[in-house]
Amino acid sequence: MPFNKEQVLKQYFGYDSFRPLQAEIIDGIVAGHDCMVLMPTGGGKSLCFQVPALMFSGLSLVISPLIALMHDQVQALQANGIPAAYLNSSMGGAEQSLVERKCRQGELKLLYVSPEKLFSQGFFDWITRLPISMIAVDESHCVSVWGHDFRPEYTQLHQLKRALPHVPVVALTATADKITRKDILAQLGIPDAQIYISSFDRPNLSLSVQAGRNRMKAIHRFIQEHPTQAGIIYCLSRNNTEQVASSLVKLGINAKFYHAGMSAKDRAEVQEQFLRDDIQVICATIAFGMGIDKSNVRWVIHYSLPANIESFYQEIGRAGRDGVAADTLLFYSYNDLLVRKDMIVQSELSQDLKELQLAKLERLKQYAEAEICRRRILLSYFNEEVTHDCGNCDVCQNPPRRFDGTIVAQKALSAIARTQQKVAMGMLIDILRGAHTRKLMELRYDQLKTFGVGKDLRYEEWAEYIQQMLNSGIIDIAYDEQHAFKLNATSMAVLKEGRKVPLVQFRPFEERAIKQESNTKEKSPTNTDDTLLGLLKAHRKKMADAKDIPAFVVFSDATLNDMATKKPLNQFQMLQVQGVSENKFSQYGLSFLQVINDFIKQNPKNVNTYQATHLLYAEGLSLSAIAQQRGLSADTIFTHLVKLEEGGLAIDWQRFISNSDAQAIRLVANSLGITKGQPVKPIFEALGGKYDYTTIRIALMKA
Ligand code: ADP
Ligand code: ZN
Repeated sequence: MPFNKEQVLKQYFGYDSFRPLQAEIIDGIVAGHDCMVLMPTGGGKSLCFQVPALMFSGLSLVISPLIALMHDQVQALQANGIPAAYLNSSMGGAEQSLVERKCRQGELKLLYVSPEKLFSQGFFDWITRLPISMIAVDESHCVSVWGHDFRPEYTQLHQLKRALPHVPVVALTATADKITRKDILAQLGIPDAQIYISSFDRPNLSLSVQAGRNRMKAIHRFIQEHPTQAGIIYCLSRNNTEQVASSLVKLGINAKFYHAGMSAKDRAEVQEQFLRDDIQVICATIAFGMGIDKSNVRWVIHYSLPANIESFYQEIGRAGRDGVAADTLLFYSYNDLLVRKDMIVQSELSQDLKELQLAKLERLKQYAEAEICRRRILLSYFNEEVTHDCGNCDVCQNPPRRFDGTIVAQKALSAIARTQQKVAMGMLIDILRGAHTRKLMELRYDQLKTFGVGKDLRYEEWAEYIQQMLNSGIIDIAYDEQHAFKLNATSMAVLKEGRKVPLVQFRPFEERAIKQESNTKEKSPTNTDDTLLGLLKAHRKKMADAKDIPAFVVFSDATLNDMATKKPLNQFQMLQVQGVSENKFSQYGLSFLQVINDFIKQNPKNVNTYQATHLLYAEGLSLSAIAQQRGLSADTIFTHLVKLEEGGLAIDWQRFISNSDAQAIRLVANSLGITKGQPVKPIFEALGGKYDYTTIRIALMKA
């Protein structure tokens, strides 16, 4: 094999190290084993098969269910100089023939195909006669009816292993549940595959949940806190996406909606604009996202409750795929939960599957109502043991304070009882707070004994506490009676027997939100300069537009952050930036270096001392001139240059010393057996003080 995996990683992807399990997986594949890879969205699955594909001599096939996804992945590979292409039934004949010719001539390392294309007339026989080195099945949960995204075309994929028994098959998925996992192995005919399960933790995603009240106001505030960052708002219905988008547009936010009811053309257009950072916010149904690989989505909001933890985790997983901090927010109300329950109960599913779905929904409820670290709940769902609180969820950052809410609960329950269990939330709170609304007066609720007993609490406090009582089953709700509250056995126990009701102290939104600033800073304690980062991003957008590709294909946010921190000054240093591959450097390296250089010149104070020295060095100044300009000693400048050279910069020492001087000094050094880095005092003395210490050290640098 021409390359080892580390070389491939550096040269083609610009990364220095593998993430956990990637190296083991690659070794397994290269050794010819069938493998199954379970990693969360954004975990780095693609690299697990892309690196071996570059190490194998033949062609690697990647089966991928979505055309958009194929296109994005191939585009990203090509941007790194990797010969890759895709084939699907939507392409024209000529276009397909071209790709097929490249396959025959061995010009491609990776070929992405849709299952439809794979099993189309004659194609399967043709492709399996080519020298195939590996088969990767992406989104492999699609083979299983147990997964959440079953695709019938996937069930034929076992033919691949039968036709090519010696070619390793790699199944990749972000779906972890055990039934699906077993089914994938069976369906693909790889029962003995080595299974790699990576942690499902995505520590860069912050987690928070908010009561589902005043959602638009909360979203507006959230976006104001993320003014330039791209995000997705997941909504339950098509209508809902349109409403949310139009409200945001009215607030001056660059938002659009996306759902399956739109024409394919409109959808493609919106998606493309989002990829290119031309739209900041997408309000979408779950139809959006499966096929997109945008790595710089910085936040995901769930306007309403998703179906289960898997979907939720997959959807929030679309944020922060580049590994940079990203935020997630779930709105939750008891009503949302009931809507979901209804959807399951009224669905066409068999009784077994209904029960399974209801049980799954229950786990999501636990997440939403959590009073312990939310990440613990998520990860335990994926059967992962967690030993510590995450510190990056709203519960960790703001632990709930409990109090004895028995009296509060009794007031509410008593009011419900005295209205003959006919009132819903709004009226109940008005009664408790003693509001003189017209409706209330008409119904003579102002005559009740409980009228005004809850004046001490604000409206939203009551709403919160009643919600908590609903959540914990102290009150029932009758949806077929205009959401009237009902008493049950527990209610009676509270009212009559004084059963204790612990409640969680209400906190206004401002106090509850995760402190974004400190949060992000904590995780990346770098000297990243925001101004420079802004310039780099603007430049990235310019380059991307000129090439007609999305900005994150040029460089990811993570790469730009690293660049802004490291402030590379030349090719060598630029290649140390994570994500700058050789191919990317040759396309964009110099222009980004120019941006950094200009920035440093204009902001000398923002530059570290070595960089300042290097700038003057690069202008061709002599050692003493640099020393003078910087107000430092020549010897200090010398040590700076030594450090810069150690860091990979080429320093032309000859520039600071004449040939004859250098020779004279080296002669003496040789006779005394002194080399670079050793004390030079003996040389200084042997030469009778003719040259100062710094000059002697410079002379030794080249020796
Ligand atoms: P997945 O397919 O699992 O959702 P991706 O393969 O798209 O995830 O990877 C997510 C992001 O992580 C990509 O931007 C990718 O370049 C980056 N990435 C993957 N492996 C590494 C690594 N070893 N070092 C740095 N970044 C990585
Ligand atoms: Zn936590």
